[in-house]
Parts: sequence; structure tokens; C-alpha cells
Amino acid sequence: MELYQITLTCGACDAETKGVLSPHVRELQCANCGAPVAKIKPFEGVVYVMSNPNIPGFVKVGMTTKDVYERAKQLSQTGVPGSYQVDAVFPSHRPKNDEAKAHAKLARFKANKEHFSLSTAVAIVKVRSALGGREPAFIREIWRDEVAEMVEKNRVETLLKLGKAPAEEAS
Ligand SMILES: [Zn+2]
Repeated sequence: MELYQITLTCGACDAETKGVLSPHVRELQCANCGAPVAKIKPFEGVVYVMSNPNIPGFVKVGMTTKDVYERAKQLSQTGVPGSYQVDAVFPSHRPKNDEAKAHAKLARFKANKEHFSLSTAVAIVKVRSALGGREPAFIREIWRDEVAEMVEKNRVETLLKLGKAPAEEAS
């Protein structure tokens, strides 16, 4: 059972309040004035990006409503040499839907059901984009900079494209 202590400043009375949140205790009231100060909503599951150093150039994108690291372990026992590592994890309230969105975005890189032929960092950026720019809850350190750079580049390109439209209209 996961238990978290959370410390918050009450917006109503300014008192600092401490409480425990868990999948079973999802709301917290201020100990001083009783105002609601926190609410949690557990995610149904995750969409993940995984890779296996023994299958270079390919990534696996899928979803699970269970522990993503257990899933990686399972996949590593399916006769493929080496083990899968979790590269990025996106929290999801509708994992099946979000997985479908991610797979649609990656369709042209598809190698088989859940494997895609592209670099891990590009896959992470594309899944992020398929999920409307959702930030991953976890991303492996080695991908962080590359992903952040690509996201920024895409953002600037989108702005330039948007800026270009009125200029063309004017000419
Ligand atoms: Zn209060």
C-alpha cells in the first residue's frame, strides 16, 4: 500500500497542514479550519516507451494498468535476449485510448504489433505529442536533454508556421 505524507499551506486560513494521501484517502482537509486543501485522482494506467539494448533501433510502445516495471520484466522473459528498460512513462486516465493515439501517431514506423522502428528519443517526443503535449511522469535521464530540445524545436516550428500564415495572406 502506497502512503504519502503531504504538507500544504491552506489557501483559506494560511495554516500549514499535514496529511496522509493514499489510493484510499484521496481528500485532505485543513486541520485548522476544515477547508479542503488537496484531492488526488489515481491514474488508470500508463502509456510506456521501452527499449531493449539487444534490439537496437526499435522501441516498444504500449500500455499497462499494472506496474510498468513488472511489465518490462515480463517482456524480458518472452524469449528475447536481454531485458527491456523503461524509457518513459506517461500517466493516463484512459490508457487503452491513449495507447491507440500513440500507435496511430507512430503508424508509419510500425514493425509489428507494438514495436516501432525509430529512435527512442523521437518515439518519446511523438507519444508526448499524440497525448496532447502531456509530460511524462518518468523519463530516463539519458533522453531528457534530447527530448527537451526536440520539444522546443517543434514548438518554435509551430509558432513560425502560425506566424507565416498571415504574412502569406498579406502578400
Ligand atoms: Zn485552513
